[in-house]
Amino acid sequence: MNKDYLLFFGNGGGRYNSVTQYLATGGFQIVIGDKFRIHVDPGPSTTAYLKQMNVSPETVNAILVTHLHLDHAHDVPILAEGMRSGKTAPPVGTLVGTPDTIAGVDEYHRGFFKQIYQLSVGDRFTLSEDHQVEVTATHAEHCKNLQAIGFIVSANGWRVGITGDTVQYPGFTEAYSNVNVLIAYLRGPENYISKSHLSLDTLAPSVAEMRKAGHLRAVILTHFGWRITNPGGPIRSQEQASKLKNHTDVPTHAAYLGFKFSL
Ligand SMILES: [Zn+2]
Ligand SMILES: [Zn+2]
Repeated sequence: MNKDYLLFFGNGGGRYNSVTQYLATGGFQIVIGDKFRIHVDPGPSTTAYLKQMNVSPETVNAILVTHLHLDHAHDVPILAEGMRSGKTAPPVGTLVGTPDTIAGVDEYHRGFFKQIYQLSVGDRFTLSEDHQVEVTATHAEHCKNLQAIGFIVSANGWRVGITGDTVQYPGFTEAYSNVNVLIAYLRGPENYISKSHLSLDTLAPSVAEMRKAGHLRAVILTHFGWRITNPGGPIRSQEQASKLKNHTDVPTHAAYLGFKFSL
């Protein structure tokens, strides 16, 4: 059995949570053999949550960014500062994103990375030879004039799908039909109509289809917006997970700050 796991530094997305941190926007990590750490979508305050959870930024080996919106990319520079140990240290680690995303990181901090991969949909590369980590860029349809992608990350026999911010699109189900764990970015609850994000109504039929392929072990919901949980209303993240589970029969978790999931 492998010791690989996912670790969440929040479950929030969107403007409200980026500003208030009512739900933390620190993204999540894929940790491989306790030796190789991939941080996905470091939004605002990521480094504060790393500190809170006793994870040193120096242990991060790679940053994957789905797109340039602040709730996904804001803390790339500050995390890059933390990945290097000291001002004169040589470049370390890898930054992965669309050309838009990479161009959105200032030149000074781009120089902190040893490697930078600019990905387009369908691109696949080996992120770590030592740990045999492969990354594939999947399609995401999010906002006009902004390149957005999702990812499939695989190692040690598991495959994790990461939707990024996207609407449902033709081919979405097929794109993730071979993953074992799907991390789905929701912003609103069921019956929330969005031109840029998934809602439970659009996600559920796809997950039901993915289940038929026989690989899907769990779905993890994250990137909740204020429509799902806000100070004046009920906490609906767990309710969303229960509804998806009831609809699809696939074990579904609502991510939270500190949530750990074994791969
Ligand atoms: Zn977002
Ligand atoms: Zn976005």
